[in-house]
Order: sequence, then structure tokens, then C-alpha cells
Amino acid sequence: MRDPIYILGAGPAGMAAAYRLTQLGFPVVVVEREEGVGGLAKSIRYQGFILDYGPHRFFTKIPAVLELWNQVLGSEQVTVRRLTRIYYRKQYFQYPIQAWEVLRKVGWWESLRIVLSYLWAQLIPRPAPSNFADWVKGKFGTQLYSHRLWQVTSTMITKNRLKQLSQLLQPSWQHLAPFLWQILLPSLALTVLQIFMISLWSKESDYVSIFKGLTQWDSHWYLSIVRRGYQFVGFDKIAYEQSNVAFFPGYPLAVAGISRLLRVDPELGLYLTAQLFCWLMWIYLFLFYRRWQIPLVWQILASLLILAYPTSFYLCVGYSESLFVASLLGFLYWSIRWERPLLMLLAGVHGLVMSATRIVGLPVALIPLLNLWSGSRRWLWNLATVSLALLGGLGFFLYCQLFFGSWDLYMKMQPYFGSSFVNYLAIVQAHTYTPLFSIDHWQSLFSPSRALGDQIWAISLSQLFVPLTLGSLLVTGLIDGISATAGKSQCWQERLGFHLAAWSMFYIALAGGSAVGQRSMSRYCLPVHIVQVLALVHWAKYTDFSFIPERIRPYLGNTLKLGYVLLAFIFFALNQILTWRYAHHLWVA
Ligand SMILES: Cc1cc2nc3c(=O)[nH]c(=O)nc-3n(C[C@H](O)[C@H](O)[C@H](O)COP(=O)(O)OP(=O)(O)OC[C@H]3O[C@@H](n4cnc5c(N)ncnc54)[C@H](O)[C@@H]3O)c2cc1C
Repeated sequence: MRDPIYILGAGPAGMAAAYRLTQLGFPVVVVEREEGVGGLAKSIRYQGFILDYGPHRFFTKIPAVLELWNQVLGSEQVTVRRLTRIYYRKQYFQYPIQAWEVLRKVGWWESLRIVLSYLWAQLIPRPAPSNFADWVKGKFGTQLYSHRLWQVTSTMITKNRLKQLSQLLQPSWQHLAPFLWQILLPSLALTVLQIFMISLWSKESDYVSIFKGLTQWDSHWYLSIVRRGYQFVGFDKIAYEQSNVAFFPGYPLAVAGISRLLRVDPELGLYLTAQLFCWLMWIYLFLFYRRWQIPLVWQILASLLILAYPTSFYLCVGYSESLFVASLLGFLYWSIRWERPLLMLLAGVHGLVMSATRIVGLPVALIPLLNLWSGSRRWLWNLATVSLALLGGLGFFLYCQLFFGSWDLYMKMQPYFGSSFVNYLAIVQAHTYTPLFSIDHWQSLFSPSRALGDQIWAISLSQLFVPLTLGSLLVTGLIDGISATAGKSQCWQERLGFHLAAWSMFYIALAGGSAVGQRSMSRYCLPVHIVQVLALVHWAKYTDFSFIPERIRPYLGNTLKLGYVLLAFIFFALNQILTWRYAHHLWVA
């Protein structure tokens, strides 16, 4: 007879251990200091009633645990509709907390403080909570925590206002420093670096002249919308002062707002707006890095790959690129994973701006529907987020219907800009790729004189971006899919939205650009690239590479390093050529 195994404590952990050991044939003694078993999850008899310490619900993602649970409880298991509420200030509040209910019941001033402190907590998460109080503060914000757990009455709040305020502010300042160093400053530094790189090639010397000198191509159209609003006097009068409905309203609206706010000329406002949103775009990138706990070296490498991308300078000139990418990243940041009403609303607002800025924002706005597919029960909130996100683009169509009698005027205008039809099959048609099989194409690409003086060169480059981007979409999608189905990669659901966003942006841009020889694809591939880099970084972080044999790891590592350096170098060289071209008013994309 073996000696018994002693288990200290008859809580769920002790009882489960005892159960399993008994099944395996070990003699077991459970020692419990209380009268009954169950620990914190036990039920107590009180005045003829059976009471629990608190509401207990069972959940697990581990099939073996679920099986054990079903085995032990068998038919005794009862499924009930759970209704958990917190009694506070003579009112019942739903648990888990419903943001709208709290806001409704605690009054507008308190609501405002709760919302701000909640957003603050989301924006600056506490690194690793060392106790429950810290966890709750990090999850719901200090203000809500003060209500639920300190149980401070309103009179005490008045008496202790000063003391409380200092308690409220202390953690915020503690966390402000990392936010400043890890997010705000590096993102600002990268924006300034981008602006500096453009100004290097400009012939002007001061900021105002540098950027006013860069007003060209689409910038003129945006400026005409800011100055005169949308106008349409006929398809035969396509000019800045006459018919300008071929551009989405998000960017012109933002320029008008910011120019008015800063009291600057809209022409300068074009650049300030783009650069402000470029900063926001980098902020969101760093927020993603921090949410996913990406190592610093990877952060630097990924950021450099975005910074060096051939057309990245479009983020800082008078184009809608930065507004679109910033709102796209904000939309993904707030809609994936969190699923709380207030954050979904924030996602919806970002989505609204995104779809009001580019037509490709419309399919991307559907991404929160993935939450429903992966089992979310908040279908109403997800649908509301999608609807709000679609409103930007659809609102523009409605505007065209109301003011010009044709909801699809934007599409009808495109032929006058060269794109005579949308070819939804372009991605699989041979003629999309045939230019790459001509020797002339390659000769032109490698000719320095054409690179610095010829419109055809930029178009040839754009054509090259199509197979390259498609190839990278296929390869990254494939390795991600394989590693996820092999069980080597975690959290793939979080990345799926990024892959789908990249694919849909690429597909629609190509369908539209097919009729004009894909001439702007190098610019349209910029958001695709940024989203892809994020998906790749996330994949690398959440994939277990231990299956790669030890002996090939150094070779693989060196190949990847070499590949990275080569790619970054080619990107940067092209970036400099294209920036030079743009600064010298030569067609880029
Ligand atoms: C109000 C409330 C609501 C909760 N809701 C949920 C929920 O919805 N879902 C969920 O999954 N979890 C919930 N939990 C948490 C869950 O109850 C605990 O995670 C679980 O009980 C932990 O089990 P345990 O065996 O590790 O510890 P415990 O349950 O704490 O058990 C420890 C046992 O050891 C005994 N013990 C300690 N020291 C000694 C000693 N020196 N000698 C002898 N015996 C000793 C104690 O008396 C106790 O019986 C809730 C907890 C509370 C309090």
C-alpha cells in the first residue's frame, strides 16, 4: 500500500487534484480547515437557504477541463440565465458592466470623468498589475474603480476631494511617461524625419514655401473642394473650378477644419493636415506594438520598413494617404479584440472617417463582422460599428444624389480621369502582368536618366508593384494560414482582419487602376504594405518557431537578415528617387 498524497485545501484546485489522483489509483487525503469543501466557490447554508459567496459561472477553453466538468456534474448540471447585478447608490447595475447603463445612472459629470478615465486606461494600459485593484483600474479606469470598490459615498468624495484627486492623478502621471517615450515621441520623431526627407530635395528653404511648392496633381483637386465645395457643371467641364466630384470628402473636410482651427491658408492646411495624421498613423502603429508586446528591435525594423517604402512620402504631402491609413489603423485598433460598446463607437467613428476618405474604406468597414464569426454575442454593437463605419462613404453617395441627382457621380467621373471602367477580374488576367515580360520595361526601369526625367518610368514602376504586392500577400497569407492550421501560431483571428483589409484594398485599387495601366499602384500599395507589416510582426510574435531544427536556424536567421537589408535598401533607394521626382513636379503615382 502506497503512502497517501496529502492535499492542502478542499477548494476547486484541491478537489480536482484529488479527483484526478484517485482516478489514477493513488490514495489521497484532503485536509481542509473549514467545515465544508469548495473554498471560495463553496455554498453555505444560512437560515434554511443555500447561498454562494458570489455568482459563479463556469467557462473554459480547454476541452479536457470541460469534459471533466461534465463528467463530475453529469445530469446535476443546471443551465440558467445569468443575471448578475451590483447594488450601488440604491440602484442595480448590470454585471459585467454595461457602459450605457452606468453613464445613464450616474449623471453626466460623473459619466464624463468615468469615460475619460476609461479611455485613459485603454490608451495607457498598466504593464503588469500586481494586485486586483490595479487590474480593475487598468481594465475599467480609476474613476469607475473608485465607485465600485472603494464604496466611497458622495459626502466622503466632497470631504476628500483633494486627497482623491491626487490619488487619481498619480497613476496617470506614472503612466504618462512611458506613453510619452514609447508612443508619442518616437511617432513624432518619425513624422519629423519624413518631413525632413522631403524638404531635403526641395529647392525652397522655409517650411511654408517647401510645402506650397509641392502642391500638384491631386492636391489641386482637394484644394478646389476645400475652397469652393463640391461642384458639378457637366462631364465636359472637368476642371478644378468646375466639376470636382471625383474625390472623396474626408480629406478636404479635415483640411477645411484644421485650416480654420489653425487660421492658416488651406494650401498650407493641406500639408499640416496630412502631417498631423501621419503622426496619428505612427501613434497607432506604436500602440499596436505595445498592445502585442513587440520587442524593441522588431519595432525599429518594422517601422523602418514602412518609413523606407518607396511611396511613404505621400503620408506627408497634400494627399489623403495619412488620413486614410491613420483612420484605418484606428478602426482596426479599436474594433478588433475589445468589443466594448464605447470602444466600438470609437472604432465606428474612425471607420466613418476611413470610408469618407477612400472608396476602398467601404469593404474594410465590414471587418468587425469577423467578431460575429468568431463567436461574439455582441452582434448589435458589431453591426452598429459597421453601419457607422460605412456611413462615411455611403453618406457621400447620398450627398451626390441629393445635390447633383446622381448617387454614383463619383464613379461616373472616373473615366474623365483615365479610368474608363472597373475591371474586377484584373487580378487574374494575364494582361495585368504582361508588361513585366518585355525587355523594354526592364531597360526603362534600370535607366537612371528615365528614373529622373520620364513619366513612363514611374508607370513601369507602378506596374511592377502589382505582382510584387500580390506575391507578398500570397506568401504572407499562406505561411500564416499554414502555421495557424498546424497549431503553431496563436491569436490568428486577430490578424485575419489585417489580411482581409490588405487584400480588399489591393483588389479594389487594382480593379480601378487596370484601365489606366495600373499607373498609381505604387501609391495605392502603401496602405496595403503598412497593414501587411503589422500582420507580419504579429504573426512573428505569436508563432512558435521551435519546430525549426536547431541546425538550420542560424542559416535561416542569416538569410532573413540579408533579405531584410536588401529589401530595405531597395525600398529606400526607390523612395529617394520618387521623393526627388515629386519635389521636382514629375509624375510619381
Ligand atoms: C465572489 C466570487 C465570485 C467568483 N466568480 C467566479 C466565476 O464566476 N467563475 C470562476 O471561474 N471563478 C470565480 N471565482 C473564483 C473562484 O471561486 C476561485 O478561483 C476558486 O475557488 C479558486 O480555487 P482554489 O482551490 O485555488 O482556492 P480556494 O477556493 O480559495 O480554496 C482554498 C481552500 O484551501 C483551504 N485552506 C487554505 N489554507 C489551508 C490550510 N492551511 N489548511 C487547510 N485548508 C486550507 C481554504 O479553506 C479553502 O477551502 C469567484 C470568486 C469569488 C470570491
